Parts: sequence; structure tokens; C-alpha cells
Amino acid sequence: MLNKLKKNQDRLWDVLVIGGGATGLGTALDSSTRGFKTLLLEQSDFAKGTSSRSTKLVHGGVRYLAQGDISLVLEALHERGLLRQNAPHLVKNQKFIIPNYTWWSGPFFTIGMKVYDMMSGKLGLGSSERISKEETLKAIPNLDEKDLIGGVIYYDGQFDDSRLAINLAQSIVENDGVVLNYFKVINLLKDNDELVCGVLAKDMESGEEFEIKSKSVINATGVFADDILKMNDPKAKKIIRPSQGVHIILDKSFLESDTAIMIPKTSDGRVLFAVPWHNKVILGTTDTPLNKYSLEPQALDEEIDFILNTAAQYLKKDPTKKDVLSVFAGLRPLAAPEDSEGKETKELSRSHKLIVSLSGLITITGGKWTTYRKMAEDTIDKAILIAGLENKDCITKNMPIHGYVKQVDYDDHMYIYGSDRMKLLKLVKDNEELGEKLHDRLPFLKSEVLWAVRHEMARTVEDVLARRVRALFLDARASIDMANDVAVIIAKELGFDDHWIKDQVKEYSALAKSYLLV
Ligand SMILES: Cc1cc2nc3c(=O)[nH]c(=O)nc-3n(C[C@H](O)[C@H](O)[C@H](O)COP(=O)(O)OP(=O)(O)OC[C@H]3O[C@@H](n4cnc5c(N)ncnc54)[C@H](O)[C@@H]3O)c2cc1C
Repeated sequence: MLNKLKKNQDRLWDVLVIGGGATGLGTALDSSTRGFKTLLLEQSDFAKGTSSRSTKLVHGGVRYLAQGDISLVLEALHERGLLRQNAPHLVKNQKFIIPNYTWWSGPFFTIGMKVYDMMSGKLGLGSSERISKEETLKAIPNLDEKDLIGGVIYYDGQFDDSRLAINLAQSIVENDGVVLNYFKVINLLKDNDELVCGVLAKDMESGEEFEIKSKSVINATGVFADDILKMNDPKAKKIIRPSQGVHIILDKSFLESDTAIMIPKTSDGRVLFAVPWHNKVILGTTDTPLNKYSLEPQALDEEIDFILNTAAQYLKKDPTKKDVLSVFAGLRPLAAPEDSEGKETKELSRSHKLIVSLSGLITITGGKWTTYRKMAEDTIDKAILIAGLENKDCITKNMPIHGYVKQVDYDDHMYIYGSDRMKLLKLVKDNEELGEKLHDRLPFLKSEVLWAVRHEMARTVEDVLARRVRALFLDARASIDMANDVAVIIAKELGFDDHWIKDQVKEYSALAKSYLLV
């Protein structure tokens, strides 16, 4: 990839995207599939930021329906259907139950979920229905029985966020776009009329700097969007209000079911999900306004206590800190309207916002993973206008994403590779050692590490264990045990020495410890 950039150093790109999360990758894919010369730069690894730290739901947002944000829910439900259609290897149809503990909640949520079904239209995933106490307990034996009256079933999508990010990057490359991780934009270039005409970027591995020219520049940097806006205009007002959301991962024994739980009203007025994910349970989330942001936000004690205490009210077996296999925090890049000061972040809309600066810099922020495609479409439509690019229509609505397969066996942990799965199996056929598991508590194989380095642009132990396979998120302690074997495979493939291996294992272990509570 870097060679492609170097070879094209004098090239004038049509679209240059800053940021390799859901928003940036979606935008670069939309651009490259319209035939524009497209370059995406990510300062760290793809999805290192918020886009690997979501609840992993492809959803319309039942909570936003309750808030009356109808247009957001309609848009998200439509996009949910398209994403399930275009990436069935990553997006599952997930059954949820809302347990009812008061007489009024059954009819109330049944009506609400029927509206949700209706709004999904032809792209619906299944009909909601009210069920008895017995049926609820049969579906979720781990639910606390005391005062349970019944439940309401509904359906949403469930996915693997960083895997989708990697597949989007692969799709961009297949459409002649160039994507680079570990490449940070450190300044914007402007012409004599003060219009943005490119970026100054730094290769974070070699330290080399590059001036790159482009007809349009798109700021898709999530919670970092204000940093780029400051490069554009040092007096720019802040537009982002970061809001932290925390998740914890528990063993499957806490939810021995394929059905997820949605708790519609927690003590802080939010919803809490308990969702089966890669043979574990993901519990979350919170909504904590923060004034600082980083690529490794840390969960606050009160957020962890809130999740554990709320879960304990609904589950038979009370989870404790000792049961937590991993804890991770993410930051919502909420677009703050001018009058939002003093408002709680849970009240801010999740709709996306497009801002065009006087210099022509385009900033896209807010939104959800679920709506990344529509956000990308709107952004490139805007870039066509601003940069005077040839007017070409968006074609991503019905476009399969890299890995697309019709038949998926979700019981095989390698289902997430979709059409690449057979190629991974071939690696093992050619070299038996690659079929060895990296840890007895997790299903991941040595072949997956090699694959990640050769075909998915993984550069470090963390890239592999956090975002190519999800070991860091699923069982942080087990992932520390795996680090050395992973480092050895990467070093052999990329030609790194023993020092590199030692440094990587040390660095990774320190990071993974921050995902553990005890
Ligand atoms: C707790 C939580 C739960 C969520 N759950 C869901 C869910 O279940 N379903 C759903 O649809 N949505 C969910 N979301 C929302 C969704 O995750 C986000 O909307 C989405 O991931 C944001 O993507 P992004 O690309 O805008 O930001 P990011 O993923 O943060 O990407 C921005 C990227 O820009 C890069 N960058 C920054 N500065 C530079 C620079 N100078 N040069 C180069 N690169 C740079 C960063 O390194 C980063 O990778 C959730 C969000 C949170 C926080």
C-alpha cells in the first residue's frame, strides 16, 4: 500500500479521507466505487477508535424511538436491512427479549415493538410478539424469575464491528482505492486562496512525512474531529461532545441462550443490553459525558458498578468484578448543537452532521455504525458539489462487502471470514502447524494470525489480537498468554527481529492489563 502511495506521490487525488473508522472507511468505499481516485489515512490501526468498541448491534435504536427521533430510527432500520443483505457473513439476525416485571410493560412494549416492525418495512428481520412468563424463561433460563410477568420478543442485527471495518478496507482496495494505517495527518495544505488542497501526513512507522494533494479533503476522525478543524482554523469552535460508553464481557454461563436481553429502563434512564457474542456475553452500556478523548479511554469505576448492579437485578447469577473477562470503553463522537451546553449526552441526537468549512474542508461526524453507508453517501454527494467532481451516483446500496457469502455456518468460529474462510483452511492444509490453537480458552488458530498480516494489513500484536481476532475483547487474560506466539508469527512474516518481539509482547501485555478489573 505504501509503495502505491510513493509511486503516486505527484498524483492529485479526488478524495482524501482522514480517519479509518466506520465513517472514514464507509466514505472511502463510497468514493472509490463511484470511480474517484481515493486515499484514506488512519493514524493508528483501522477501527482502533470507537469503531471496535460498540455494542455490536445493527439496529434502528429502540431507545431513539422512545425519544421520538422517528427519522433517525427509520433511516437506521433501512440501513440495518441493507447491511444484513450486503454482509451476511458478519451481520446476524438476533432475537431479543424485553423481560416484563410490571403489569403495564407487556402491552406498552408490544405496541412499541410493533411500530418498530412496521417501520422496518420489507427489510424487517422478524415479527415481534408478546410471550408468557414460562416462554420467557424457556428462552432465557438465566433470567431472574422473581416478579417476572412475561416478555416481548423482537429482532435486530448483531455484528462484529472491527471485522466489518477490515472488510470495508479490503473492499476499498478492490475498487482501486488506497488505504493506509499508521499514517497520521499532521496538518492541512492550503492554496493561495486559502482553500484546502491536501494534507501533510506522517508515516508513523518510519517517521517520514509526505505532502499529499487532493481535490477534496474529508475529516472523518470521530472524537478527534475538532483537532482537524483546529488545523483548518485555530479559532474554530468545538463541535464534538464525547460521550463514553463502557461494556464488560462475561462467560456464556451468565446467559445460556442464543436470545439477547434488552432492559428498557435502567436507573439512569438508559437501556442495557446482554447479548451473546462469539460464545461470550457482552453487557453494556453507559453514557458518560467526558471533556477529554484518547484512543484508549478508560472505564470509570462507577460505570462498571452500574453495569454489574443492573445486570444483577435481572440475572439469576450475579456477576462480580472477578467474572469480568474484559472491559472496554468507547467514545461516541456526538455532534453537539450550539444550545447543547448543560444537556446530558444521552439526550443528544445520534443523527450525523455534515459541516463544510470556508476552506472547503468537509467534516462528517455523529451517526452510528449502522448508518455508516448513508453517512458516506451524503458525504461524497457533498464532496462532488464542493470540489466540482464529476457527478456520479452512489452504488453501495446493493453492493456486497468483501467476504460476502450466501450461506453462513455461525457455529464455526471462522464464519466471520465469509468467502475468505476456504483460503484460511487451505493455509492449514498446506502447513499443519498453522491449524494449532493459540489458547485453549479461545478458538483462534495460528493461521488467522498469518492471514491477518498477509491480507488484512495487521502490523502489530495488538492489531491481530484486538481487531482481526477479538481475543482482547473476549478474554484479555488469555490474550496476554497468546501475545508471544502471535509476535513470533508476525516477525517471521514481516522480517522483524527478537527485540521487536520482546517489545511487542511487553507493550501488548501492558495494554491488555488495562482491560482487566482484578
Ligand atoms: C459505547 C458505544 C456503543 C455503540 N454501539 C453501537 C451499536 O451497537 N450500533 C451502532 O450502530 N453504533 C454504535 N455506536 C456508534 C458507533 O460505534 C460510532 O458511531 C462509530 O464507530 C463512529 O465511527 P467513526 O469512524 O466516526 O469514529 P472512530 O471509529 O473513532 O474513527 C475515527 C478514526 O480517526 C482516526 N484519526 C483521528 N485523528 C487522525 C489523524 N490526525 N490522522 C489520521 N487518522 C486520524 C482515529 O485514529 C480513528 O481510528 C456505539 C458507540 C459507542 C461509543
